[in-house]
Amino acid sequence: MKYILVVGDGMADYPVPELGNKTPLQTAYKPNMDSIVAKGQSGLIKTIPDESSPGSETAICSLLGYDPRKYCTGRGPLEAPSRGIKLGKNDAAYRCNLITEKDGVIVDYSAGHITTEESSKLLASINKAFGKLGKIEFYPGLDYRHFLILRNFPKPDLIQCTPPHDAIGANVSAVLPKAKAAEAEKTARLLRELINRSADILRTHPINIAREKAGKRPGNLIWFWGGGKKPSMPTLKEKYGLKAAVISAVDLVKGIGSYAGMEIINVPGATGLYDTNYEGKADAALKALENNDLVFVHVEAPDEAGHCKDYALKVKTIEDLDKRLLGRILDGLTEPYAIAISPDHPTPIRIGTHSRDPVPFAIKSPFLKPDGVKRFDEFSARNGAFGLVEHDYLISLLISSSKR
Ligand SMILES: [Zn+2]
Repeated sequence: MKYILVVGDGMADYPVPELGNKTPLQTAYKPNMDSIVAKGQSGLIKTIPDESSPGSETAICSLLGYDPRKYCTGRGPLEAPSRGIKLGKNDAAYRCNLITEKDGVIVDYSAGHITTEESSKLLASINKAFGKLGKIEFYPGLDYRHFLILRNFPKPDLIQCTPPHDAIGANVSAVLPKAKAAEAEKTARLLRELINRSADILRTHPINIAREKAGKRPGNLIWFWGGGKKPSMPTLKEKYGLKAAVISAVDLVKGIGSYAGMEIINVPGATGLYDTNYEGKADAALKALENNDLVFVHVEAPDEAGHCKDYALKVKTIEDLDKRLLGRILDGLTEPYAIAISPDHPTPIRIGTHSRDPVPFAIKSPFLKPDGVKRFDEFSARNGAFGLVEHDYLISLLISSSKR
């Protein structure tokens, strides 16, 4: 038996007035998703525990069978492995954004979506000034997304950091890292100092001077958030006895996959945006199944459309996912297989950010009798045979559905 799990990030939504009060999933022409429902069973699944925030890290851990309350230790440690960063058990990993500050106020969490080429040069200057091998290490990532690793600083959970995307318009001094306990004061002070001193290095950097001349936002401050230690989680092989692979453009998803012991497959042209290489991902998934039992294919594009509040683009990303990725996988599969389709969380157009509502899912397997639901969407799923699943994981349902 082969297992396929296809996730459209943020695909679920609320009814949109411009779509005649239908959701993008209800609006999109998506015969392949609908055929999985019609030939299988559906339901709604809660991927965000009440105690957790509705981040992708929470939802992806949950879909893959890892209790987010236990394993979501922070964006830093979860994303770091996809950049080849090795963490020891006492190391703390933080995300280190390059951001734009103006007159003491945070104005952009991404420094105007600065390019990887420009921002890696800025980070190199930071590393040269502050990096101390074996103690304080900076690693470049994609675009504005970098990493700070503090070796042998064991208590990152005692430091309160503010994600820069939640601090737009805030005074820098009001949202700097703070210690939650006296024993973390020294580390918090170090983080504040690094941030404050980065301004002197970045302000006069030729890259930033050129960006400002071109009317672009400079990356004139570093910003730490999402700190944590690496999670220690059992692999999917240990949990389910399955050899698994992950296909995604997103560091976070690849990082979680790497802790889960999955093979990380990088597909050329996989961008995480609406222009991603859907066909390439489908072909890579079919190829991965030749020597894996399970493949997890993640598509970020619908989430980005949700964040942009672009309902037409969201419908298009769902249709592209359906035709160019899912259809191509279904055409290439040989029996027997079990396949599941699901969002990780909703990213509703109306709010432009994640919500914690349960998401629709569908599973087709040789052992599941059709439950009469014909369409894959938020409302049809309410009538599915699985009902509302609150205390189980999609991967577990997918695997157990092939054993009846
Ligand atoms: Zn997500």
